[in-house]
Amino acid sequence: MSAAPATADDFPYAGERFADLQMLRYQVHGFDQLTLQQKKYVYYLSEAALTGRDILWDQNGRYNLRIRCMLETVYTDYSGERTTDDFKAFEVYLKRVWFSNGIHHHYGCDKFVPGFSEDFLAAAVRGVDAAKLPLADGQTVDQLIYELFPVIFDPAVMPKRTNQADGQDLVLTSAANYYGAGVTQAEAEEFYLAQKEADTDLAHPVMFGMNSRLVRGTDGQLTENVWRSGGLYGAAIDRIIYWLELAKGVAETEQQKAVIAKLIEYYRTGDLRTFDQYTILWVQATEGMVDFVNGFTESYGDPLGMKASWEGMANFKDLEATRRTETLSQNAQWFEDHSPVDPRFKKPECKGITAKVIVAAMLGGDLYPSTAIGINLPNSNWVRAEHGSKSVTIGNLTDAYNKAAHGNGFQKEFVIDAPTLALINQYGDVCDDLHTDLHECLGHGSGRLLSGVDADSLKAYGSAIEEARADLFGLYYLADPKLVELGLTPNLDAYKAQYYTYMMNGLMTQLVRIEPGAEIEEAHMRNRALIARWTLAQAAAMAAQQGGKPAVELVQRDNKTYVQVNDYPMLRTLFGRLLAEIQRVKSEGDFEGARRLIENYAVQIEPQLHNEVLARYKALDLAPYKGFINPVYVVERDAAGEITDIRVTYDETYADQMLRYSREYATLPYINE
Ligand code: ZN
Repeated sequence: MSAAPATADDFPYAGERFADLQMLRYQVHGFDQLTLQQKKYVYYLSEAALTGRDILWDQNGRYNLRIRCMLETVYTDYSGERTTDDFKAFEVYLKRVWFSNGIHHHYGCDKFVPGFSEDFLAAAVRGVDAAKLPLADGQTVDQLIYELFPVIFDPAVMPKRTNQADGQDLVLTSAANYYGAGVTQAEAEEFYLAQKEADTDLAHPVMFGMNSRLVRGTDGQLTENVWRSGGLYGAAIDRIIYWLELAKGVAETEQQKAVIAKLIEYYRTGDLRTFDQYTILWVQATEGMVDFVNGFTESYGDPLGMKASWEGMANFKDLEATRRTETLSQNAQWFEDHSPVDPRFKKPECKGITAKVIVAAMLGGDLYPSTAIGINLPNSNWVRAEHGSKSVTIGNLTDAYNKAAHGNGFQKEFVIDAPTLALINQYGDVCDDLHTDLHECLGHGSGRLLSGVDADSLKAYGSAIEEARADLFGLYYLADPKLVELGLTPNLDAYKAQYYTYMMNGLMTQLVRIEPGAEIEEAHMRNRALIARWTLAQAAAMAAQQGGKPAVELVQRDNKTYVQVNDYPMLRTLFGRLLAEIQRVKSEGDFEGARRLIENYAVQIEPQLHNEVLARYKALDLAPYKGFINPVYVVERDAAGEITDIRVTYDETYADQMLRYSREYATLPYINE
């Protein structure tokens, strides 16, 4: 693994696997093409994104920073045998704790159950240099063990990071560190209700409680310890400000500089009105290549949904994807004019949209290692209503998920034969991206309602029908020679990869996400089932009528079910027919037509096939959760210390990265009161 893999296929997307986790790497493609100033900008924002790490660890639980230090010291300094079951279980436990930024599962919120004994850990802790352990003032090693071991080993102590169980005191029973000792849910709710009632600007409410820990003061009254420079987490925030100041110095536009200046002002004051002003500036700053997320953002970790965990990300525009979507947008009218729908339902003037795709350059805080594949911010409702939001997809992360999936056996299990598998390996990713682009940039924007038709006529069926319309638009055009002409598909065969995987997903593999006995409910899943099953049924009916093989069918081989496509051009014709019908349903507001399509094709699941798919998927033993190892930016300087270039490298291991972060981004004391 070196800085520049020879080809994309050599890139080590899939990393190590442990417990229920699979580590991946993402490629920061396009970084080398940035100007030196843009590289510096990305680099400083990356440092700012990593610097808040300890804040999140402390937010996730008050003992996390000390436990991390104790475990890491054992991991690096343990002098005993490293091949014993106890040590191996200890290593897995530490890797899980790293992944979750604390001792509770990142998704399920349950405390991890160590697979090693208390005696093993106690002996290991006693065996390392006490000076490297997170001892409180005057504390002995035995006292440390006495204090921290129940937090790790006793199932009754802090069992849940964020408890959502109805009927319990969610604040008292959650281990997350957003409320001080003894603060109850009722008290916290009362405290914030009073704040809301005292607010005079009702149309522009701030996000109360977002950036503080609510604690009981010495006088017994509740008070907020605000996360700001000079306040709680101030030491970490000052370091973040340091990197943001450097970033501001190399920002591309005056607008970007104003955004960062406002964020720094907010970090200094902790003032929530300043935060709202910052997010408005952030939404408006769309010029330039580079952008970022940095701050207290999402509130899923607070059982009351107010207090925001810290996260950071540096990113820049994905020029390749943007070029692709611009090409589609510029030709929007051609696609509209040539679509197989009734001319009455077409838009006389059609404008495509350019999808916004970004490249993640660094993930930090609550976006690391487990992350989102899109950004849709800010969260303040009135800011969104009055100033809009930024909604982007993170192309290189999606890409990494896809690429890593290639070798995991999933497609080998479900794809019918080697030639089809080869086709998918060669063209699957490019066609999948393109299908998404066609769906987003053209599909949703195509067509029109007949005058007088209510946009909500299809009611509960509306969103599945709308997704099917956009998907079909994409499927139909994926096979069009126009895409080869525009340089978007490499040849007239590539589309077959997408046709096959689309049918396989819609008929079979998407069912792995549904519990046995349940129905299909989610709109995108209904849409895919509708398209795949309608097409299957039409193909069967045509074959029954005209003889010969159906265009697509389900076949049995060695007691397993597979999709077999016999006639790809006919499959395209069928997609076109369904597109015409669904556009009619939408344009005419034909509720009964929508209901029939959805209820007949998109809801019920054939239990035998479902069970078969679930069993085959389970046998693959794939990790349910994935997360990313970050790249490393190597800064080159001249004799005077000036940065001359920055290179991106990918060869740091997961454990090395975590240990390095704990050294280089150790910004907080172990105990933050
Ligand atoms: Zn859509």
